[in-house]
Amino acid sequence: METQSPTTGLFSRRARLASGQPIGRLMALALNYPSILSLAAGFVDNATLPCEAVRASMEQLGKDPQRLRKSLQYDSAAGSAAFRTALVDWGYRGSLETKPAADRVILTAGSNQFLHLLAEALIDPGDIVIAAAPTYFVFLGTVRGVDGRVVGVRADQDGLCMDSLEEALDRIATAGHAPRLKAIYSVTDFDNPAGSCLSLVRRQRLLEIVARWRKEHGPLLIISDNAYQQIRFDGTELPPLSALDREAANYVIDLGTFSKSFSPGIRVGWGVVPEAMVERLLEMKSNMDFGSPHFSQVLMCEALVSGEVDRHLPEIQTGYRVKRDAMLSALEQQLGDLPGVHWRKPQGGLYVWLSLPEGIDTSEHGELWQRATQSGVLYVPGSYCYPTEGEAIRTNTMRLSFGVQSSEGITEGIGRLAIAIRSVMDAINGH
Ligand code: PMP
Repeated sequence: METQSPTTGLFSRRARLASGQPIGRLMALALNYPSILSLAAGFVDNATLPCEAVRASMEQLGKDPQRLRKSLQYDSAAGSAAFRTALVDWGYRGSLETKPAADRVILTAGSNQFLHLLAEALIDPGDIVIAAAPTYFVFLGTVRGVDGRVVGVRADQDGLCMDSLEEALDRIATAGHAPRLKAIYSVTDFDNPAGSCLSLVRRQRLLEIVARWRKEHGPLLIISDNAYQQIRFDGTELPPLSALDREAANYVIDLGTFSKSFSPGIRVGWGVVPEAMVERLLEMKSNMDFGSPHFSQVLMCEALVSGEVDRHLPEIQTGYRVKRDAMLSALEQQLGDLPGVHWRKPQGGLYVWLSLPEGIDTSEHGELWQRATQSGVLYVPGSYCYPTEGEAIRTNTMRLSFGVQSSEGITEGIGRLAIAIRSVMDAINGH
């Protein structure tokens, strides 16, 4: 007889759709087994968390008892008005002509909450989002959690490939699914997981393609997730998508977060949305929590306006550049001679995307995962990052993060990984 669990029949369909999501498990492994060197977690570096900047901001806040008292109270669903104004002044310094009005900004508890809000607001079961293959795997879970579909398009070192995007759009239109397509999701700068940055030419092409689709088929949004925008090490800054077209205010949603550039513990993120979407999103957010933590917003506002955020940025840019270089040179030393092993040099962000020879399965069911965890190193299996439709899933890939470990930890971790990879390759080659 089938055993009944005390929760049989209790959970909603949506709760069941969350089953098997990998992020919680990977984060728990990293936190619970400190002897495992995690190159998986997208955590930021403990050593560069802005303790001094936060202390100074708290002190400033403490000097203004009225402001402090107000910060300890609820605020609006959109979040602190003063902070939203400061945020657009800061975030759009380089693109004043397209600077959005502050009332198009909604503050959230990290930009993940914004992604969740968007998924809830846009997606009915069966609706479609297009994303790069690979893309941010938490977002894949978010869309899956509302019973949406994600169609993957090819991506390379310059981000989403426009020919592959056009093919996917044609297929969707030919299948009669145009009204179901809601958005194209792009991690525009220093993508998670592939480290790529959408080139200027492709930014312009993307806007043209979407403008054409909107004329022919109706509304379509671009969700430009700029979580890593400030973590640039090399090359010149590129304009955000929203700054490249005056019309963009009607269909580009810019997402940002201070989790990577300042502190994920404070957890403040935001979205800049088309004016016509603000009211509905705020109604939904009111149902959710009627406003994200106000104290975090006031603290972040102080850190932003007093210049603490800008003073902190060079420190983390330098710190992560050094650690990226440590990872690249360890990869070169440990795996550079292996045929079929490739990686890219990211110009920013926290990740290196590694491809192994065809046939090596990096998934949690594969031999490599077993050997890597036994030798005390964790990575994110690439297959988590692929949408289930469109571009084929490449199971011989992995995401490596240089965010959390020190340079020494990274070198040691890549050493352990290389031993595991070599032993699996030897086993396959019959040595
Ligand atoms: N988008 C991307 C691409 C990310 O990698 C992350 C963090 N891993 C986020 C959004 C959101 O982070 P948070 O919710 O902490 O702002």
